[in-house]
Amino acid sequence: MNERFTARVSDPKVAHDMRVLADFVSIWCDGNHADQPRTAARTDAAVLGTYGRKRHVLCAECAAHLAYAEKRRAYCGQDPKPFCAHCDTQCYTASELEWQRGMMRYSGPRSWRHGHAIDGIRHLLEARKYRRRADAKEETP
Ligand SMILES: [Zn+2]
Repeated sequence: MNERFTARVSDPKVAHDMRVLADFVSIWCDGNHADQPRTAARTDAAVLGTYGRKRHVLCAECAAHLAYAEKRRAYCGQDPKPFCAHCDTQCYTASELEWQRGMMRYSGPRSWRHGHAIDGIRHLLEARKYRRRADAKEETP
């Protein structure tokens, strides 16, 4: 773990996004990998205390995806940051992006029951805004 990561995690916006991310990955892992060996994830953000006392019990695969996503979020230069799915500067590798899209599609609708109603609504509104913008682009010759 380097100093830059540690400094970025102290930004409340970055920490908030990481908490949402970790909860979403937990919902996905709970629903899909309950039969796998799972332990409380010791990602960099978890070690730094970003998740407080909350433990995200994940399989090894999901923990690796979360660790990757934490780094991408920490080093994101966009401000304000759009949701990753709508970002023009795609910093994820193709396979990580595909994994995250599938995970979000599963966890997004289920996150309402896990205390993420506000984030769910924000996500929905922003997705709509970007869809409109994309439609408008297609219409202009
Ligand atoms: Zn998993």
